[in-house]
Amino acid sequence: MLLLGSHIPTVGGVAKAIDRGVDIDCTAMQIFVKNNMQWLAKPFSKEEVTAFTQHPLRSKLKMVIAHAGYLINLGVEKSENHEKSLQSLGEELVRCDQLQIPYLVLHPGSHLGAGIEKGLHCVIQSLDTIHSEYPNLKVRIALETTAGQGSCLGARFEELAEILEKVKIPDRLRICLDTAHVFAAGYDLSEKNGAEKVFKQLDDIVGLQQLCALHINESKAALGSRVDRHENLGQGKIGLDAFRWIMRSQVLGNIPKILETPKGKDLAEDVVAMKLLGSFL
Ligand SMILES: [Zn+2]
Ligand SMILES: [Zn+2]
Repeated sequence: MLLLGSHIPTVGGVAKAIDRGVDIDCTAMQIFVKNNMQWLAKPFSKEEVTAFTQHPLRSKLKMVIAHAGYLINLGVEKSENHEKSLQSLGEELVRCDQLQIPYLVLHPGSHLGAGIEKGLHCVIQSLDTIHSEYPNLKVRIALETTAGQGSCLGARFEELAEILEKVKIPDRLRICLDTAHVFAAGYDLSEKNGAEKVFKQLDDIVGLQQLCALHINESKAALGSRVDRHENLGQGKIGLDAFRWIMRSQVLGNIPKILETPKGKDLAEDVVAMKLLGSFL
């Protein structure tokens, strides 16, 4: 089953995203469950939740995932922001559960100079805290591969593997791979058979069974630049061969593929990109 779509704006309420996503023929989509640049949000009303979960077109979307807010950082301990991050993440997880969203994509965090090992340790502890504070949630956190910009954790598959290995309840975590991020982090999707090699590495180090979502983005930034700049398909440094391989891969067949590439209000760029990806099948 093809699970293809994009990050859809929730302007006017979360339920509106379903209209927008279905309107451009998404079979999967990603949303923010609250303003992505604010710590906290007004709780959903019953009506908002019902409008989303009972939306007449909801079943047209075979998979809906969420992306966590950008302020959340689990990588630095004992700071005001760490407390706020835990609170904000907890809130987002509850909101996902209310909307029956199975995965919340999260950037592991930034160590802000303390070093990767210290940063990872803090992320692991923070995830354990969240898991024990919210023992009954169905939603899982999907740790996203990052470009490694600044002191961002998660640029190497080994870092994600370490988190999965060391948290107390690994089954509450999954992985989301972003093609632009891994390319900027140094995984060469642009070389011959590059995608096949990169996913083989992911399988060896993390395990493909952990993968629950793909972010299908071209990269404006060069290989290994550690700069996170998304570009439209066909206009970036990765090239179409990698995306063709991803679309045709059997093992990735059931993984939702979400575009996070630049677009205008009418989502016309997403329509073009989805058509292109569909033509690879
Ligand atoms: Zn992301
Ligand atoms: Zn992404």
